[in-house]
Amino acid sequence: MAQPLIRMVDLSKVYRPQGRREASLGVRALDHVSLEIQEGEYVAIVGPSGSGKSTMMQVLGLLDRPTEGGLHIAGMDVSRLDDDQLAQLRNQSIGFIFQFFNLLPRTTALDNVALPLLYSRKADPKARAREMLEFVGMKDRLYHAPHQLSGGQQQRVAIARALANKPVLLFADEPTGNISSQQTEEVMAELDSLNRSGVTVVLVTHEPDVAEHARRILTMRDGRIVSDRQIKPERAAAAAPDQSESFRLKPVPALPSAASIRENLRMALVSLSLNKFRTFLTMLGMIIAVMAVIAVTAIGNGMRVSTQRRMAALGSNLVVLMPGAANSYGIGSAPQFLMQDVDRLKQLTLMGGAVRAVDPTVEGSVLVSYGANDWNTSVTGAEPSYESMRADTPVSGRFFTRKEDQDRARVCLLGKTVIDNLYPPGFDPTGTVVQVNKTNFQVVGVLPVKGGGGFRDQDDVVLMPLQTAMWRVLGVTQISRIEIEATSSDAVQDCIDEVTQMCRTLRHIRPGQPDDFRIFNMADIQQAQQDIAGVLQKTLLAIAMVSLVVGGIGIMNIMLVSVKERTKEIGLRKALGARNVEVLFQFLVEALLICLIGGGIGILLGLSLSVVFTRFLGWLYIISWTTVAVAVAVSAFSGLLFGLWPAWQASQLSPIEALRYE
Ligand code: ADP
Repeated sequence: MAQPLIRMVDLSKVYRPQGRREASLGVRALDHVSLEIQEGEYVAIVGPSGSGKSTMMQVLGLLDRPTEGGLHIAGMDVSRLDDDQLAQLRNQSIGFIFQFFNLLPRTTALDNVALPLLYSRKADPKARAREMLEFVGMKDRLYHAPHQLSGGQQQRVAIARALANKPVLLFADEPTGNISSQQTEEVMAELDSLNRSGVTVVLVTHEPDVAEHARRILTMRDGRIVSDRQIKPERAAAAAPDQSESFRLKPVPALPSAASIRENLRMALVSLSLNKFRTFLTMLGMIIAVMAVIAVTAIGNGMRVSTQRRMAALGSNLVVLMPGAANSYGIGSAPQFLMQDVDRLKQLTLMGGAVRAVDPTVEGSVLVSYGANDWNTSVTGAEPSYESMRADTPVSGRFFTRKEDQDRARVCLLGKTVIDNLYPPGFDPTGTVVQVNKTNFQVVGVLPVKGGGGFRDQDDVVLMPLQTAMWRVLGVTQISRIEIEATSSDAVQDCIDEVTQMCRTLRHIRPGQPDDFRIFNMADIQQAQQDIAGVLQKTLLAIAMVSLVVGGIGIMNIMLVSVKERTKEIGLRKALGARNVEVLFQFLVEALLICLIGGGIGILLGLSLSVVFTRFLGWLYIISWTTVAVAVAVSAFSGLLFGLWPAWQASQLSPIEALRYE
């Protein structure tokens, strides 16, 4: 005689109460049972409630491991198999039908039946699932979810699912417990015909007429088999095909198949959309963090570039000369520079040294009026060379001339902000006459737009000849600011030395005495500004990173809740042959999805925030696509990182404990 399909030797299953290790407290649900079941048999297990029937079926169905004793399936010692090998056997060789159907909710009949096929990596699982549903007479209900089906119909879907992988061994635990007597007939007819086709059927029931369908009836009491009756002759052995082939373990790729990951994605979307508000709250941390990162870098980069542009416009070979000793803050008592100092400094430009140009300016506040409109702004008085030194070529009209400067002519150029505040939109003020502190000035040109730079609006300015500003408008004799251009950026230090020497001579400073003026190197000032901006940006980024971590913890929390909520589903998936790695992936995919959606929303908000900020504040912003890519990568990574623990927990659940979880 061929080896039995199932051989149980002196097998016991002891349930220990939770948290207790003492063997004496355990319930012996199976008590030293020995049993053989041959291929093609049709066995019913009966007995009073609590006698161990379900436990027997779970151990036989490889959902649970025995506490002691041996179990051999098709000649294989089950105790030597690891979790994944058991999952593979459940998937390819064993079918389960449960009393409570255990179909995935909110999932069509077709997808439910396709589930075990996904885990066994069958090509075209849907086609096979449709075939099986047709076989159980459910072809007009393919796209119904379980809640749209009657109990009997749900059980037929469950049967179709159990048969999807052509199992050779079918377990049914009270398959008729939740359906009407009419439907009981149909379901039992199904099982009978399966057994006739060679499938070994093991059935647990407490209904005698259901047990009558079997050929052999085992009666259990207190964890033991108390009677074993053959009520119908066994079918001819020839009718049962050799089934050991079906139990052969095959090597399986380490990672889940693409189809099963697609199914994970679908389930993750279902689960997320079921709890929209909860999902949104979970994502919020990620959204805020990514938004902050994007906005901070866009605005920070904008600031850096606008500083660089200003620096390029000013020229890195520029130095600024101011009165006052190097260690005294504020103006101090040192004498101001006057026009004759400027004239002497200008002589340096003729000496072929490192000084190329000297550019004196005065500054002050004025009231400008045009018609009924008044505007308080700042006035800059400069020499004509200002145009080329500052790249300040007018966008309309012209710059003032040397003669106008000498003549203290009442001419001026206006910046954009001033024009916006005095003239109707789109009006070109060139040629009009404005009042500057109640004196008529002719507008000869419009200054190019500089944009916001730091905290001062560089376009809020009236520019006029230096002499006009000093004598007609501000009434000052001292020069506010003297900018000196070196012949090249390498000559800046030589230029500083020459200017220092000249100033010491002009101001009669004896050797050994300290300077009573200062010379700033523009490049140094810009560098200092950039350093401050850099520190600010890094601080903000660090805060954004912290909120990313907080967001990640929120996601982890909700994933742990999700694993708890879906413990039964995990049990079912494992019973149908999901390996640990497949369950792991399912929850990782979900965490990843939350993070990527959150990250995506965060990116959109961050980009809009940058635009809004810069539009209202006039700042420059530069979107760094690297940052966007990094944000996506970081949110994906945190999804994986924070999803890993809950997903791992889910994957480690024992199939039967998860299935029994309330
Ligand atoms: P039946 O299916 O015949 O009703 P079971 O196999 O479900 O019987 O249970 C057999 C015995 O094992 C019962 O006494 C029951 O209380 C106990 N039992 C079943 N499952 C568990 C479990 N998970 N933990 C502890 N005891 C259990």
